[in-house]
Amino acid sequence: MLIVKKFGGTSVANKERIFNVARRCIEDYQKGNDVVVVLSAMGKSTDELIAKAKDINPNPPKRELDMLVSVGEQISVSLMSMAMASLGVPSISLNAFQVAMHTTSDYTNARLKTIDTERIRNELDSRRIVIITGFQGIDKMDNVTTLGRGGSDTTAVALAAVLKADMCEIYTDVDGVFTADPRICANARKLDEITYDEMLELASLGAGVLHNRSVEMAKKYGVQLVVRSSLNTNEGTIVKEDAKMEKMLISGVACDKKTACIAVIGLQDQPGVAFKLFNHLANHNINVDVILQSVGRDGTKDISFTVDEDNVEEAVAVMERHRQTSLICDKIDVDRNIAKVSVVGAGMTSNAGVAAKMFEALYDAGINIKMISTSEIKITALIDRKYVDEAMRAVHDKFIVNR
Ligand code: ASP
Ligand code: MG
Repeated sequence: MLIVKKFGGTSVANKERIFNVARRCIEDYQKGNDVVVVLSAMGKSTDELIAKAKDINPNPPKRELDMLVSVGEQISVSLMSMAMASLGVPSISLNAFQVAMHTTSDYTNARLKTIDTERIRNELDSRRIVIITGFQGIDKMDNVTTLGRGGSDTTAVALAAVLKADMCEIYTDVDGVFTADPRICANARKLDEITYDEMLELASLGAGVLHNRSVEMAKKYGVQLVVRSSLNTNEGTIVKEDAKMEKMLISGVACDKKTACIAVIGLQDQPGVAFKLFNHLANHNINVDVILQSVGRDGTKDISFTVDEDNVEEAVAVMERHRQTSLICDKIDVDRNIAKVSVVGAGMTSNAGVAAKMFEALYDAGINIKMISTSEIKITALIDRKYVDEAMRAVHDKFIVNR
């Protein structure tokens, strides 16, 4: 079997944990498997490197930032190989150059294009454990790039895909994917399995266990993932195309506290207004989530939408620039005190009443809903941010605990 094992920063945070990971990998190796290990930077070292950069220059050139932060992963892979050597097992550490991990040139957020498997195959054939830097890439000019925060998951899935691995295990510091963030909902339960689509919804809602793009890639290439803890031997959560025959109505409840709502009041009620508004935002790469348009009245209408909190200033600036021409309106209001609470479940496609049940949970908790949005497997309510934890618990209790 060929196994790709990815370990996050907490799993390699110190000497003891590095040896713990080394032993786990060696166990698989000694059973005769080919083992490819992908590592993140130790502990909080990526944050520390970014802080160092910002201390020198608050707005560092992105190319140089990637040159700096990519170092974190190189430290963990080399130390891991040294640990394995001291345990008498042959291994080799390789960085993005050495495996030709080609990406786009979008520094700090590059996308993988191709990986050359020849070197990896050769090393595996000479019975070495191959330890590869997560997060790193190189572009066509040989510049160092990185895949964005949390990107090592994506490195691991990509390697599993190109190597046609039999297994891709993502090790972290929690037991798997939970029905909700256990720090908010103390009675959250670990899921045995979850579908790619559910995981994608949860990941983009800030469930934080897996890098979003890694799930997209796993779905695209049919890589089955296991998310499990490096600190114990519990089973973990399997992420795959189809979960159990009888799908769970709701797999999880998630929230996003980094949402802001922008209301554009008094737009002209005529064709092309929504197009122009969202086209301006799209041209600046600003992602829009929930959109609500009011019924036109007296020749005007309002459009409200949500964006990531970090994009509010830019979004408003873009709109202001066009207010005299293509975006005539009375005013632009910003509300930063909102949050999204969502229920996610592949089973809801064939079940009526999920929305009503969610709204009932919020009603019972006395929480007002500002906006609603739905997809095939998700229902989202926008609420006042100060009630978000309460809302999470109310909804989680209703769907999961008192099911
Ligand atoms: N070390 C990088 C980060 O902290 C990549 C990763 O951990 O996946 O974002
Ligand atoms: Mg991570």
